[in-house]
Amino acid sequence: MDNKEIFYRHLAPTSPHPVGLEVGHAAGSIITTTDGRQYFDLIAGIGVANVGHRHPQVVAAIKEQLERHAHVMVYGEYIQQPVSALAARLTALLPATLDCVYLVNSGTEANEAAIKLAKRVTCRYKVVAFRGGYHGNTQGSLSVSGNEIKKQAFRPLIPGAVFLPFNEVASLDAIDSNTAAVIMEPIQGDAGVVIPDQAFLEAVRQRCTDSGALLIFDEVQTGIGRTGRLFAFEHYGVAPDILTLAKGLGGGLPIGAFVSSYQHMQQLAHNPMLGHITTFGGNPLCSAAATAVLDIVTTPGFLDEVEKKGALLEKLLQHRQVKAIRRKGLMLAIELESEEKVDKAISLALERGVIIYWFLSTRHCFRISPPLTITQHEIEAAADILQEVFDLL
Ligand code: PLP
Repeated sequence: MDNKEIFYRHLAPTSPHPVGLEVGHAAGSIITTTDGRQYFDLIAGIGVANVGHRHPQVVAAIKEQLERHAHVMVYGEYIQQPVSALAARLTALLPATLDCVYLVNSGTEANEAAIKLAKRVTCRYKVVAFRGGYHGNTQGSLSVSGNEIKKQAFRPLIPGAVFLPFNEVASLDAIDSNTAAVIMEPIQGDAGVVIPDQAFLEAVRQRCTDSGALLIFDEVQTGIGRTGRLFAFEHYGVAPDILTLAKGLGGGLPIGAFVSSYQHMQQLAHNPMLGHITTFGGNPLCSAAATAVLDIVTTPGFLDEVEKKGALLEKLLQHRQVKAIRRKGLMLAIELESEEKVDKAISLALERGVIIYWFLSTRHCFRISPPLTITQHEIEAAADILQEVFDLL
């Protein structure tokens, strides 16, 4: 059996129609398949390769750490230099109230743990979330995600989830003295890049403060420079009580994090002790990679370029087939007339060497989230191909 046959026979599928590219190698914004075809990667593994595939600084950091040690113990027991270095680096980049980091392995795990922390700190049960939100696929995160069709087959999910419309201040009264947490993406990704009103985010923050609910910002997708700031909440000057991260943080290695105050985080060590545990969280290789990512993204000028590149892409993708473009930095939703046109655009683009991709729930739009390191030339070349694709729709 070759790799392709094994993939279709022995790897459990997530859909009947996987993209099925056979990857040879990847560097920067380009993925090369085993047959030597090159693709502009405008998706970056769904917002993961923010610093590009195999960024030399990330590769060097992983190699250097591998010479010392890989996994030696479960999270939270041994003192490991790359893990401490990451915690110091990350908290220095955040508001003073977000000064304590717990490292996990993925976005959904960060959200699960954030919800547990909020329940433990507030001794309440209700979790307010927003329609259109996506927080992951394990049972807790799924319970607070919006897509009803995706949840239906797996009920009952965790009790206490309440959904409100995004961007509607009037409905925020539902955040009350029973509410442990409000979980939200500050900019909704899977809903098709829905940008919040400043007044809405401020009202959510105020309502949480007044009711004693903890505000969780899920920046799994919007974090690590994706929107042109290190964290999307910086655009709005509204800080959460708990921040969750993953995707771009590891520069291609799996790592997640939830960040809160020192006082809140102490609760996870008492009543019960070991209130949240993980074997691989804080993996030293992933931590070394993540510190390198933060070094790259915070290089002076790097984040200014993100907004400029996003604006260029937006300009070059205007076409009569494109009904709307919603965007913050290099996080884009391109709206077409129908699901069918989206499917056709994605396959025509792939045939021509450009990777674009669906949203899970917002089927009449496709997503673009390239490496933030994509060059102007690559943007222009990929946009030319997409113009050709739009002409054929
Ligand atoms: N939260 C958001 C906003 C996401 O976009 C995602 C993944 O797409 C997740 C959570 C889940 O992350 P993971 O797939 O690493 O569990």
